[in-house]
Amino acid sequence: MCLEETSHPGRPGTSELVPSRYALRVGEIDVLMVSDGVLPLPAATLASNADPADLAAWLDDLLLPPDVYKWPLNAVVVRSGGRTVLIDAGIGVEYPDFPRSGQLALRLDAAGIDPASVTDVVLTHMHFDHVGGLLADELRGRLRPDLPVHLAAAEAEFWASPDFSRASMPPPVQEKIRSVAGRFLDEYRSQLRPFEAEYEVAPGVVVRRTGGHTPGHSVVRLASGGDRLTFSGDAVFPDHFDRPDWYNAFDHDPEEAVRVRVRLLRELAATREPLVASHLPFPAVGRVAVAGDVFRWVPAIWEY
Ligand SMILES: [Zn+2]
Repeated sequence: MCLEETSHPGRPGTSELVPSRYALRVGEIDVLMVSDGVLPLPAATLASNADPADLAAWLDDLLLPPDVYKWPLNAVVVRSGGRTVLIDAGIGVEYPDFPRSGQLALRLDAAGIDPASVTDVVLTHMHFDHVGGLLADELRGRLRPDLPVHLAAAEAEFWASPDFSRASMPPPVQEKIRSVAGRFLDEYRSQLRPFEAEYEVAPGVVVRRTGGHTPGHSVVRLASGGDRLTFSGDAVFPDHFDRPDWYNAFDHDPEEAVRVRVRLLRELAATREPLVASHLPFPAVGRVAVAGDVFRWVPAIWEY
């Protein structure tokens, strides 16, 4: 069996062997995790400040190759109080070399979610793997033309004239990231609904700015009845449970990103609140435990 070929991205969604969606409930709120696919990136992007031998050992512990790490990429659909909120939008067609990504529109269709029914978009931040889907015809042409897009004011301001001096991205990636964010601002400017610190987009669905990964990076906190759930966007990558001190190459302020990450992981470990994230392996639903000085990811047991 080849682990690479267990699904067939590119075919109509209903024929995919792996549906790549996972539903859960948080009190009265419906949550659907949707995989946009995977991004094969140089493994060094996981940890730009790591000793290469430490990163190689971490990958080898997981029986993964040393050179490429396939970043999982997930978006979320949340339904609460009559609103249907799309949180992040995948990579779209921005990286045609990554044929296993950009699947969001197809997988929304397969899940029976009509893009015209989306009442709000929330962006954790404006990197291409989170806004690219909004620029692709497949999704864009089917969204309401006046669809409000909620994001931190600091995020929209940053990308009007971005400063990459503290990030470790290679220059071609910087250029790509800048151009996608610029196009997004041009095309969606009239639909942007910036917030300062936080905004309740639907009952029990609060998007809150954290900064760190990008200046306006935000997480989404859900609360209904006694239930809670946090979507951490890019605050936490798969290596960060073991090595919360590792800088992701896309962290614009890596030191602040570490502070944001550790604060969030400590809080989630203390409260045992479930976590979902952009770049944890699909369906990216689990909890955080403390493991000595660091943390441990405890995947949820599938309920189906
Ligand atoms: Zn990302």
